[in-house]
Amino acid sequence: TNRLLRKSEKLALLGQMAAGIAHEIRNPLTSVKGFIQLIKVNRREEEYVSIVLDEIDRINGIVGDLLVLAKPRDLVFIEQNMMLVLKEVITMIQTQADANNIMILEEYEPDLPLSYRDKNQIKQVFLNLLMNAIEAMPDGGVIMVKLKKEGEMVSIKIIDEGIGIPEERIPTLGEPFYTTKDKGTGLGLMICCKIIENHNGLLTIQSKVLEGTTVEIKIPCSDKHYKKQLSTLL
Ligand code: ADP
Ligand code: MG
Repeated sequence: TNRLLRKSEKLALLGQMAAGIAHEIRNPLTSVKGFIQLIKVNRREEEYVSIVLDEIDRINGIVGDLLVLAKPRDLVFIEQNMMLVLKEVITMIQTQADANNIMILEEYEPDLPLSYRDKNQIKQVFLNLLMNAIEAMPDGGVIMVKLKKEGEMVSIKIIDEGIGIPEERIPTLGEPFYTTKDKGTGLGLMICCKIIENHNGLLTIQSKVLEGTTVEIKIPCSDKHYKKQLSTLL
């Protein structure tokens, strides 16, 4: 009975998610349809086409974020050097940081142990968190990235000097579709939480309005935490 209950709870959650996703995708689709109709009758193609392209990007963003959740069976837990994975992601977003006058400072504890995790998923987490930090600093500034060992866990902190998050909003983070951005999907943090959960880790957020935000991820170093996980996934 316990299993059944859990299954029906899962189905209810899935139903909620599906309703949210359908709603989020229908909004830009309705707008795409409306502007295509306007293009048909008006002569303002240029303006309308760029709106349509923006809305298509939005749909693509939502679908791209969801794919991460849709493919849990593709997880490959192998030993990863977290510092190298972080450096790879920082290289990926460097031009975006430069364009926003943002300097990324890195602080790595030497000789960190390798640990078991899925590289693509961890990259996705770093990418989401660093993009959020960049988007929180419209006037530029410094992002600190710190990596160190803490007992049996590896701790990764991403510290920004951005706009911050009001205290009462912090519990809302990680809920699907909560966004304060015009072009946000509100899926990034939910996906980060899901991935960190898959790795038996923890994600915590501390923030102060107008001062900045610190996101900390802790992931176990040892592979023993993954044995159970692997047996349920493979
Ligand atoms: P999105 O980035 O698409 O809005 P996320 O799930 O990544 O969705 O983030 C949800 C919301 O959390 C953001 O819209 C923003 O309001 C807030 N947030 C997340 N990270 C930060 C940050 N580093 N600084 C300020 N606000 C943040
Ligand atoms: Mg985001």
